[in-house]
Amino acid sequence: METNTDFTLAIENLTVSFDGFKAVDDLNLYIDENELHVVIGPNGAGKTTVLDLICGKTKSTSGSIKFLNKELTKMAEHEIVRSGVGRKFQTPSIYENLSVFENLEVSYPYGRSVVGSLFFKRNDKVINKIMEIADQIQLASQLETEAGLLSHGQKQWLEIGMLLIQDPKLLMLDEPVAGMSVKEREQTADLLRSISKGRSVLVIEHDMEFVARIADKVTVLHQGKILAAGDMDKVQADPKVIEVYLGH
Ligand code: ADP
Ligand code: MG
Repeated sequence: METNTDFTLAIENLTVSFDGFKAVDDLNLYIDENELHVVIGPNGAGKTTVLDLICGKTKSTSGSIKFLNKELTKMAEHEIVRSGVGRKFQTPSIYENLSVFENLEVSYPYGRSVVGSLFFKRNDKVINKIMEIADQIQLASQLETEAGLLSHGQKQWLEIGMLLIQDPKLLMLDEPVAGMSVKEREQTADLLRSISKGRSVLVIEHDMEFVARIADKVTVLHQGKILAAGDMDKVQADPKVIEVYLGH
């Protein structure tokens, strides 16, 4: 058993079985600070289930998930969020009738609860943080725009911004460029590279060109198990990966 405690995320011997079917089967996965780690693999490989396990939406059958040396498998979803894990789902959960600014503001940690936001006073610290994030997600010139009017790509960035403003130490994104234009994909690649500084980022993605652009490390999942892992060049050249995933 690994005893290294330097990793931001250390998953060891993680298994979940649904009525005897092991969707994730004895998985070991380690992510460092400043690392952008991409998980790829065929449909049904267990990729989304790994994210569900990390954020506590699905409970593991056995194994360990240590985040900053805290065991997540015994924690409730809201405790996991509070400990610094953010997750972006495929459908953005933004408030369509609020402005970009307001969406970021309600996501600011002190304004998160309904009661909190009622008594919440805008101050320079909050405004500066909103400006900084808006700049990073390329929406600085759209602060007053109603979120519902943004393009598909901009809505995705806004949701990333709403997570960033909570300063998670692990940010997880499931197929973040699905439905995006080529230009938006390029901008998203730059954004993900920039947000991996000072934290760990875990991305699930199918678009191999996109993966090649962003990944520090790649893990290929197949039938709940690791088929290959390493940098993109190594993984892409692996005959097993070509056979089950890249070859068709
Ligand atoms: P991927 O994201 O790699 O396409 P998933 O993690 O969504 O794959 O699913 C892996 C396998 O686990 C699939 O066969 C799926 O049907 C099954 N699965 C996922 N979640 C559940 C669940 N809550 N109950 C039963 N089976 C599930
Ligand atoms: Mg999936």
